[in-house]
Amino acid sequence: MDGFKKALVLSLMLQILETKCSTVKTKVLILGGGAAGVGFASKLQEKGHTDFLILEAQSYIGGRIKDIKFGSLTIQEGANWIHGIGKDNSMYQLKQKYGLNATTDNYTDFVVRDLSGNLVPEAQATYNKLRKKIDELYNLVEDMQKKKELDIPVKTAFEIVGWRAKSPMERALDYYVNDFENEAPPKQFSAWSSGFTGGGTDELVTDQRGYAYVLREEAKSFQNKIHLKTVVKKISYNDKKVTVETSNGTKYEADYAYVTFSTGVLASSNVAFSPALPNWKMKAIYMLPMNHYTKIFLKFPTKFWDSNRYILIANENRGHYVHFMNLDRPGLFEGQKLLIATVTDVESERVEKLSDNQVKNEIYNVLRKVYPAASQPSAIFLSRWSLDNTTYGAYSSPVIGSDKYSYINLRAPVNKTLWFGGEAATDVDSFGYAHTAYTFGGKQADELLSCVKDSSKCPVYKPRGQSNTTGSSTKSMPSAILVFILLIFRFCF
Ligand SMILES: Cc1cc2nc3c(=O)[nH]c(=O)nc-3n(C[C@H](O)[C@H](O)[C@H](O)COP(=O)(O)OP(=O)(O)OC[C@H]3O[C@@H](n4cnc5c(N)ncnc54)[C@H](O)[C@@H]3O)c2cc1C
Repeated sequence: MDGFKKALVLSLMLQILETKCSTVKTKVLILGGGAAGVGFASKLQEKGHTDFLILEAQSYIGGRIKDIKFGSLTIQEGANWIHGIGKDNSMYQLKQKYGLNATTDNYTDFVVRDLSGNLVPEAQATYNKLRKKIDELYNLVEDMQKKKELDIPVKTAFEIVGWRAKSPMERALDYYVNDFENEAPPKQFSAWSSGFTGGGTDELVTDQRGYAYVLREEAKSFQNKIHLKTVVKKISYNDKKVTVETSNGTKYEADYAYVTFSTGVLASSNVAFSPALPNWKMKAIYMLPMNHYTKIFLKFPTKFWDSNRYILIANENRGHYVHFMNLDRPGLFEGQKLLIATVTDVESERVEKLSDNQVKNEIYNVLRKVYPAASQPSAIFLSRWSLDNTTYGAYSSPVIGSDKYSYINLRAPVNKTLWFGGEAATDVDSFGYAHTAYTFGGKQADELLSCVKDSSKCPVYKPRGQSNTTGSSTKSMPSAILVFILLIFRFCF
């Protein structure tokens, strides 16, 4: 190779090294381009703070709001419902703004069939009884909280108010109101944080542009600030700045970072924190772990099922293909011969490890007992969020004993530079939802801006039942007392 060629190769190599190893500087780094990240960015943009970047591992914006094609239809692999519609609901506002098609759900429109295919006629009366028990349960929880009693499993709370699911039909209804909403069995779920199917008015997004369309539209004004396919590997922070290393070699440096990764990702070793996150932050992450929820879309050659919105199967085996949603209805996907089977918790983790064909066969084996005219599905799609290393589950599910401090501490910044958001970093009555992830994103952007102006306004770590303290460490109090005692000894004796 002559001198000129050598110089050319060297300069090319230097150029590659420079792009691979360059450091990009910005004021605020938003880590994750899901609902929380987009909500945060939109608020910064609205307030005129345009010096930010979003780093997103995937090749799309939306995270767990994800549209995919199933045959000729656009379906939702993640969030599908706008829960608790109303003018204060951010996703409802966006739905109205962009004219997204959605239909009001009706959870009372269901049938229960036993495994021999017989309708269980007393199911409706039992469901009405169960709804009354839910009201009693809420009163019980309120009363216990006022008396500062300890959290209990939601199953225990139901037993106290007199509901115990004994028959397969009762267990199917119990699954419908509990597991379908919380994605965890009632014996494992916190009574303090529980919500139940049919608690408010919900809309199911059917728009063929997809649910994430609203986020894509909102993000249009800061499109050039989104770095897709950029996987965060390491986050180093101190009280002055945050440095983020990514899988493509690019380093980013900012005054602040807003981390919106799921608690599944934060609890994994996918992203290294330097220094390691303090114990109080890790505790909050572990108190709000991810649940597992699989939506299985099934297309059939013919429609052989009931016309109700929901079909529940009184299966002895709790959670084993108990819950089906009928999409072949007016206002939904009429004529498309589509069902969604829902499985949750350990059944979801089991099913997500199977092949599509295995799942198809399992479902067919249940359906053919209930409907003699059932056929094998002609197509299947199932989401596998528990295996996805950008989520490790569907959404957060507080363990028994978690309380408002778990949320406050998940949200609290570490060293004032490293901020945390996302659906789990919300509140005891709003975790898990797309609309609250977005709303809190906006709120936290406001908080960051006021904290930058006035440090007394910065959110801080709060130990349970104690007054505010800074984000440094719980150990600081005893050591401060020790120093004080030593000083007294030094000066007084
Ligand atoms: C199957 C399913 C059904 C659901 N149904 C509903 C529903 O009907 N209604 C509802 O309100 N909510 C529903 N949810 C919950 C809702 O989708 C979430 O609460 C919400 O979308 C979470 O938004 P987020 O911004 O907090 O997190 P995410 O959407 O997870 O955003 C975080 C982003 O970080 C990215 N990321 C992760 N790791 C890295 C990394 N190392 N480097 C860079 N980027 C990374 C991810 O790719 C992701 O885009 C459902 C969720 C699932 C999975």
